[in-house]
Amino acid sequence: MRYKSSLRVNLSALKRNVEKVRALTSDKKILFMVKADAYGHGIIPIVRYSASELGISEFGCATLAEAIKLREDLPDLEFEIFVFSDLDLDLDFAKDSYLNKRIIPVISREDDFDLILADDDFKHLPICLKYNTGMNRLGLKHSKVAEHIQKLKTSGRNEIFHLMTHLSSASLSMKRNKRSDEQNKIFQEIKTNYNEAKINIVNSSISNSGSIEQKFGFEESHIRPGMILYGPTTLIPKDRGESFWSGENLSTLETYIIDCFEADKGCPVGYGGHPIPHEGIVAHVALGYGDGVTTWYQGCEIEHMGFKGKILGPVNMDMTAILFPSTAKDRIKSGQVLTLWSSSNEVLNIADKMKTISYQLFCGLTLRLPRKHYLEENHK
Ligand SMILES: *Cc1c(COP(=O)(O)O)cnc(C)c1O
Repeated sequence: MRYKSSLRVNLSALKRNVEKVRALTSDKKILFMVKADAYGHGIIPIVRYSASELGISEFGCATLAEAIKLREDLPDLEFEIFVFSDLDLDLDFAKDSYLNKRIIPVISREDDFDLILADDDFKHLPICLKYNTGMNRLGLKHSKVAEHIQKLKTSGRNEIFHLMTHLSSASLSMKRNKRSDEQNKIFQEIKTNYNEAKINIVNSSISNSGSIEQKFGFEESHIRPGMILYGPTTLIPKDRGESFWSGENLSTLETYIIDCFEADKGCPVGYGGHPIPHEGIVAHVALGYGDGVTTWYQGCEIEHMGFKGKILGPVNMDMTAILFPSTAKDRIKSGQVLTLWSSSNEVLNIADKMKTISYQLFCGLTLRLPRKHYLEENHK
């Protein structure tokens, strides 16, 4: 744990992002994706605030363990939890968890579909199906819809609580890339098949962040945003112009300068003794790969006190060195608070520079870094 480095998470900004998503989608119902510890933002405070203050009543996890943690840590709040990928139906306590903790598995494998229909204990479980319409990751086969209909009817089911599919290419311009259109077409055919078989579809969804950003998939009852509610656009750099999203980044990655000193060009710094490329002020800050700030951060630009610094050579487990120009002398001092990112643009600049995506920056932060949640009105 650290005392003076943290990921500060602005819940007031989450409120404004939710309002923006509602305005953009004409109030579609939100199934908020909070897998991987709410994309590194701390799942419990994020869900507590969203469920109690923002009127969000459905949340999506990837694993059964995440869902159980949510239920156990927030016993007083009413909301639905969906588990998307790692259902763990073979574990002996899984059945008890789904039935007695009110957790809904999203069925995306043929085996799980059969298992749930065959087990009488599951007969009151809401049926949620996710179809593969072209992503070829998880998903029921759309070529088997007739068989699924038959099996549902045989087991006395005439309702699907939530029908879903997931888009493979929502982060690409949908004007130029037609894959989302093709997937949507297949999804609509699946819905038609169920309607014709008189199986009622209560809810449906297709849109993840990239799709919402491009106003795609709004015929369905629900949207399933993850990343945009945490802030950044999910479109690839060259297609960002197509995004209708302008959310606020929730997180500020804050640390402080443990020590700093002047150094000449060529001075070897840290493990491996990599020489610095020019003279300047070397500042060591209290974040390293033990916190999830990996060696990928090398070369990223960080602004501090109006000076542009660059992250130096191998980042260390506990510290990161930043080289500032010599003109920063007397302005950059030990003990100062230093921010690695705060705005969506800063997050995206770092991610782009590292040739990665904001998802990995956020999910990579470890638990050594405390998450500090706040509301603007309680904090100045
Ligand atoms: C993670 C996930 C989402 C949300 O994706 P974002 O790109 O973060 O909006 C939506 N649907 C499914 C099935 C997911 O796994």
